[in-house]
Amino acid sequence: MTVSVLSSEAAPAADLTAGQRQARAVGAFLGLAIGDALGATVEFMTPAEIAHANRRRGGRHTEIVGGGWLRLRAGQVTDDTTMALALGEAILEAHGRIEASACARAFDGWMRGRPVDIGNTVRRGILHFRNTGAVHVPESQDAGNGAAMRCLPVALALAGSTPARLDAAALVQARVTHHNPLSDAVVCALVRMVSALVCGAGPEVLLKEAASLSEVHPELRFRGRQCLNPSGYVVDTYRAVMQALVDTADFEACLVEVVNRGGDADTTGAIAGMLAGALYGESALPERWLVALDPAVRASCESQARRLFAHAPAATLSRARH
Ligand code: MG
Ligand code: MG
Repeated sequence: MTVSVLSSEAAPAADLTAGQRQARAVGAFLGLAIGDALGATVEFMTPAEIAHANRRRGGRHTEIVGGGWLRLRAGQVTDDTTMALALGEAILEAHGRIEASACARAFDGWMRGRPVDIGNTVRRGILHFRNTGAVHVPESQDAGNGAAMRCLPVALALAGSTPARLDAAALVQARVTHHNPLSDAVVCALVRMVSALVCGAGPEVLLKEAASLSEVHPELRFRGRQCLNPSGYVVDTYRAVMQALVDTADFEACLVEVVNRGGDADTTGAIAGMLAGALYGESALPERWLVALDPAVRASCESQARRLFAHAPAATLSRARH
């Protein structure tokens, strides 16, 4: 039988307890950080370069060791995780609400802290806010993955909300820096997927959301030719993540698969880690990766996930709503 997320042990569980839902929320945030730290080592490398660099280790990059073009410490994360943490803090300060001005101020403060890396569209959007006070950028052709990589705190704070509410909140944070139909569509789909998974949905929800998405945007179909060396274009990112997620049956296999495709590997790793963490739960995260993660980052992700989720409808629902 072909290995697939549908043959995995991530069974649908509509009657998860609040504690089990919280464990999925924590799994998502730690998964994001793990994927970022794991993928950053091979960011901008091709699959062939990764295989060559790991030729004495079976040709696969599988450990959190730092390095990469950013010369990271082992366990250090990049903008994907630190922007999500900045957004999460802003949501917590607003008692679970997603407010555009609070998001913009949080991103501005994050950039003033001299992050280890920053995407061009993110920088432009934050400077636009700094210079004009506007909390959203005009629509553009720029479909980078920067708004998608940091969307998790919205999904956790609103898990179990209606799709309309999730979409509206997802776009509030996204449009501080990104305003493009493809970026918007992927951000909304990711937030809806995480919300459903945290509420107890099984892997089928990923395929359902993906099918709706590709009806509107056929370029987001992910079946077919493997997306190798994915760029920062949100279509590449999404396709690589979905291929890795659907064609594997556990958290570790999914992350190893996606980061070894190279390209924007910290971001594909982060987004795949977020979805796989929400699907398989905190207990599925390999201990060696948790131990390797920067301890302060690990603590912040765990703590934020719990506090954000406490605001969510799913934290108090007696039965999960998909
Ligand atoms: Mg990054
Ligand atoms: Mg990246």
